[in-house]
Amino acid sequence: MTSVRVRNLWKRFGQQVAVAGIDLDLPSGKFIGLVGPNGAGKTTTLSMVTGLLRPDQGSVEVVGHDVWRDPVEVKARIGVLPEGLRLFERLSGRELLAYSGRLRGLPGAEVDKRAAQLLDVLDLAGAQHKLVVDYSTGMRKKIGLAAALLHNPEVLFLDEPFEGVDPVSAQIIRGVLERYTASGATVVFSSHVMELVESLCDWVAVLAAGRIRAHGTLAEVRGPAPSLQQAFLELVGAQGRDAGSDLDWLGGGAAR
Ligand code: ATP
Repeated sequence: MTSVRVRNLWKRFGQQVAVAGIDLDLPSGKFIGLVGPNGAGKTTTLSMVTGLLRPDQGSVEVVGHDVWRDPVEVKARIGVLPEGLRLFERLSGRELLAYSGRLRGLPGAEVDKRAAQLLDVLDLAGAQHKLVVDYSTGMRKKIGLAAALLHNPEVLFLDEPFEGVDPVSAQIIRGVLERYTASGATVVFSSHVMELVESLCDWVAVLAAGRIRAHGTLAEVRGPAPSLQQAFLELVGAQGRDAGSDLDWLGGGAAR
């Protein structure tokens, strides 16, 4: 079963080609990592796949519906935690979830029940009446995740969900996501932290310079390399680059 089907996806920003003809079939019920170096096109790809950015060319289907021809069908079935998430900051965490739930068409009592449980599990119950504007980075990620999960989507897209999140909160988020995929849902998340991807994902796509360099199960993408990090460095062409060789002025022995 395929949850996301991408064909010949392109996006240019002026002269810059951000996504250069991506074809991808993401399996259902898996924990999927989209990895790539800075500027590889991960955010641009996720934005087009989730209906936030119109592609120049190509098509995207999510759970059998075309994202751009059938946006309402798709948006009802997905949850998104975008990069640089903009939240309604003058609401409290609890109010934000109430608002998100009602926007999704859930009955009030059900929203209340789910919101209370999510706030509890994500360790936000103590901050539920605080305004989101006063939340820390990690708390914002967690409340954004709660809002994305509230309607129990079939596919959850997360752009860098662990960035700026402390180890305790990361462990909590991880637990929630593992439980969610175990029930048959699909998580697609972008990251450049290979250890995290290696420990969480069963399926990986490697993106560099707007193109897919490798995709498949973790074992397939890792191949004979000792770690995903090593395989990644080989795939994106950073192997053996001596980053310090030109910086001969840097350090103790050089003239200041
Ligand atoms: P990172 O890991 O650093 O977040 P990324 O893989 O998410 O990177 P993107 O943000 O998708 O990469 O960017 C891909 C390329 O497209 C980059 O070269 C970036 O400068 C360019 N780009 C992205 N958005 C825009 C925009 N709105 N206008 C101009 N260029 C853009």
